[in-house]
Amino acid sequence: MTSTANTQQGIVPDSLAREVERASHCPLDCPDHCSLTVTLREEPGGPTQVLKVTGSEHNPFTQGVICSKVRSFGDRVHSAERLTTPLIRKASSPKGPGAEFETASWDDALDLVAKQLLRVQRDHGGEAILPVSYGGSNGALTEGLMDERLWRRLGASRLSRDLCATSSGAAFDGLLGKMPGTDLRDYEYAKLIVVWGQNPKDSGMHLVPTIKAAQAKGAKLVVVDPRSTGLARSADLHLAIHPGTDLCLALAVHNIFFGKGWQADAFLEKHTTGVAKLRDAAALWTVDKAAAETRLDSADIERLAELLHETSPAVIRAGWGPERCRNGGSAMAAIYALAATCGLYGEKGGGLTSSQSRAVQLKSEVAVGAELPAGLRTISLSQVGRALLGHADVLDGGPTPHFVFNYNCNAASTLPNQNAVLKGLRREDLFTVVSEQVMTDTAYYADVILPATTFLEHDEVSAGYGATFLTHARKVMEAVGEARTNAAMFGGIIERAGLAQPGDATELDPLAAAILKETDLADSQRQALTRTGGTLTAFEIENGRAPMPFVDHLPRTPDQKMNLFPEDLDREAHARAQLTGASGGLYVYQPDPATTEYPLALISPAMGRMITSTFGESYAGPAPLFMNRRDAEVRGLAHGDEVRVFNDLGEAHVHVQVGGRDEPAAGTAVLLKGLWARHTANGLSSNALSPDHLSDLGGNACFNDARVEVAPR
Ligand code: SF4
Repeated sequence: MTSTANTQQGIVPDSLAREVERASHCPLDCPDHCSLTVTLREEPGGPTQVLKVTGSEHNPFTQGVICSKVRSFGDRVHSAERLTTPLIRKASSPKGPGAEFETASWDDALDLVAKQLLRVQRDHGGEAILPVSYGGSNGALTEGLMDERLWRRLGASRLSRDLCATSSGAAFDGLLGKMPGTDLRDYEYAKLIVVWGQNPKDSGMHLVPTIKAAQAKGAKLVVVDPRSTGLARSADLHLAIHPGTDLCLALAVHNIFFGKGWQADAFLEKHTTGVAKLRDAAALWTVDKAAAETRLDSADIERLAELLHETSPAVIRAGWGPERCRNGGSAMAAIYALAATCGLYGEKGGGLTSSQSRAVQLKSEVAVGAELPAGLRTISLSQVGRALLGHADVLDGGPTPHFVFNYNCNAASTLPNQNAVLKGLRREDLFTVVSEQVMTDTAYYADVILPATTFLEHDEVSAGYGATFLTHARKVMEAVGEARTNAAMFGGIIERAGLAQPGDATELDPLAAAILKETDLADSQRQALTRTGGTLTAFEIENGRAPMPFVDHLPRTPDQKMNLFPEDLDREAHARAQLTGASGGLYVYQPDPATTEYPLALISPAMGRMITSTFGESYAGPAPLFMNRRDAEVRGLAHGDEVRVFNDLGEAHVHVQVGGRDEPAAGTAVLLKGLWARHTANGLSSNALSPDHLSDLGGNACFNDARVEVAPR
């Protein structure tokens, strides 16, 4: 180096500073799991600066290409909004936007947290303590480990982390038992790719070049998405389905196959059970009936079935859109079942991939080191708002929470029924701790804020979902300021609360080794992974292809068959429907919740520049409401108009984008996911309009069941 550089320490001579490159991996809540090279500027005794984050070739699927969010991850590490010391809310300051805090030492902050935890446990019972966490970290060392040890020893409420993937998880486990899916690398060999409810440009971007490579070789593409995304516009068939009706479409395709005798009899006979009940459920869905409900053309539904019948190999990539509604579990199950009915398995490039189809399952639970007390009540993450407000129907007979510990999550921005969440967080008799990297909307409701490390500052073990890669990534730099890892933070609280026990493992390497030992990996694979701190490709390409479902491995169900009608799922769907007085069951459709007052479906898909609410500090906004031209016209709205989008739960103030890129189908409006208060005029997002009821399987959040009206403001 030939120059000097300004740092927080002043001018540092070149001879003392150096640039280094270190290997890392992205564990963020994204399927792809990119391998990274991080370029750092290090100074002896001074702060380390992230100069650059680029993709590396270690991951053979992501191949050195990463998204712009993580390319500029240094901006988050060194953000002016980065939390670098513990903070305690000033006694004079109310909770919420504009709250004021004063700096505290870690000792003082942790003493206060431990004291309040024990007070609430003593006065209200352990279940009055509610951990609130989600996928902001997404690794086995930063969630479900030391935190879980603390919650179990306190007897805290259990949290059902059901914002996403619990519908698909229940359906996938029931049908296929956590079986690995078709390797995304093999999509290049497909002759037909059906992307159902996913926009890979914004969620799992590495699928886009793979699809394009397949298209270049003549593959056909079908996209099922209410929006006219770039991928949908490049498709041979775009099914702009009405939100929440994917179940009807999938069952109609099954019905066409069974009606025409196209079903894959040999596969169904050898590898499945429950086909007769699936056929009976599908028989209710004629093409015309499905067309009426999905708002698709009958001819397009028939065309989808024809393409699946006449094209081989064909593969379905099942995304997240269909599960975010009342029918989400049944919809996902019916989509998964198509791979069997249509005979998609058994050829290179054919089959099915879901976010649930993972090569490796990581279970932090094996390293927690604390028994789970029996009988603890569970609160749904989707219903935290009403729980905080003491609604008995979501408290399962337990106490109203008096302590919330929010980590790996931005609850104020991401949970349904946002007004209830904010009202609950404002309670003065609620003690709230927020562990965060930057000052989020939720942090303003905290009594104590604890600064958290980013993935560059801590070790992590994590696995891609849908993809087949596993990593044990080492930190590449020391923590910024006084930020601490989750393990150190929760370990400190356990100590101060007097909950430590002799023999407690606290070093991360042995904990990581214990977690990896529970996987199916060979010892040599595990040792290599831990030694190199690198990426492990769980499935190598051999003989020109990745291992294939039903060829190289079978379902992880008890009989190793695909169960097309799991009775326990039927019972669960039936029981959940009964709670609302409806009749239900597996593959039973619940009608669209639209009313004449609120006729538009509001959906909140992912935004390319954020991962749910992560990176919200770097998005200037304001966020638009995307509307179909016809819907805008009948309401007298023009592009750019300021509007209120509203229903009985709340309203968000935004401007409209009419038509253009990503235009939704008529009857659907779009306000993107994860918005912060700064992104809308009144500080509320689509979640202010999202109901907090749960899906038919797995109790998934039903964001896409929001029904709204839009009017000028
Ligand atoms: S967010 Fe996804 S695409 Fe971006 S670097 Fe991480 S894994 Fe790769």
